[in-house]
Amino acid sequence: MTKIVDNLKQINQQVADAKRVSQFQQDVTVIAVTKAVSLARTQEALEAGILDLGENRPEGLVAKQQEITGATWHYIGTLQTRKVRQVINSIHYLHSLDRLSLATEINKRAEQRVKCFVQVNVSGEDSKHGLAAAEAIDFIESLATMDKIEVVGLMTMAPLDADEQQIRTVFRDLKQLQQQVAALQLPFAPCKELSMGMSNDYTIAIEEGATYVRIGTALVGNESEEAK
Ligand SMILES: *Cc1c(COP(=O)(O)O)cnc(C)c1O
Repeated sequence: MTKIVDNLKQINQQVADAKRVSQFQQDVTVIAVTKAVSLARTQEALEAGILDLGENRPEGLVAKQQEITGATWHYIGTLQTRKVRQVINSIHYLHSLDRLSLATEINKRAEQRVKCFVQVNVSGEDSKHGLAAAEAIDFIESLATMDKIEVVGLMTMAPLDADEQQIRTVFRDLKQLQQQVAALQLPFAPCKELSMGMSNDYTIAIEEGATYVRIGTALVGNESEEAK
């Protein structure tokens, strides 16, 4: 059985080591991705001291929100436009803003400003959602009139079968893009944050400047896999 307290202790140590390597002296928030675990295990994570929870489907998010109070909620998956209404006023961060139609719907449905990460497909892998890196700045500039959207940062996922050097290059490219956007000093897009790194690559991500890491399997496990 997964002991979340023990996992967290190890992860916190790795995070501290990686921060020391990073040249950016950033704060790092660990998000527990609870999409593949039960409510009981999610509560175990909260008891271990995790405050930030990540879900990638509206149903999973709503089910956990009915039972848990006081968490900071991160929506990390592709969000269908027709499901925006279900989630947008109960999350603190959206990590997957990747198209204008989604931004328009958020702007229409949100009652308050939503902190969004623009998702970028740095590696160009077909299977991944996200904007091409070359389109990201134009996209962000096009959000200027949407007063319910704040671009707090950029998000990416590294390719699945990449080696360490390829993964590092992806994260480094996203860091550079984030600095380019921040330098524009757009009032609606401070773009100081970087959401990158999962169970298998979060230390590399932090070394390259990540401020939010999204950790599922290594922290809370994956109950559907464990049952096999
Ligand atoms: C599932 C998921 C994660 C966590 O993945 P692990 O490898 O289990 O840590 C992170 N980010 C996104 C977008 C995910 O869908």
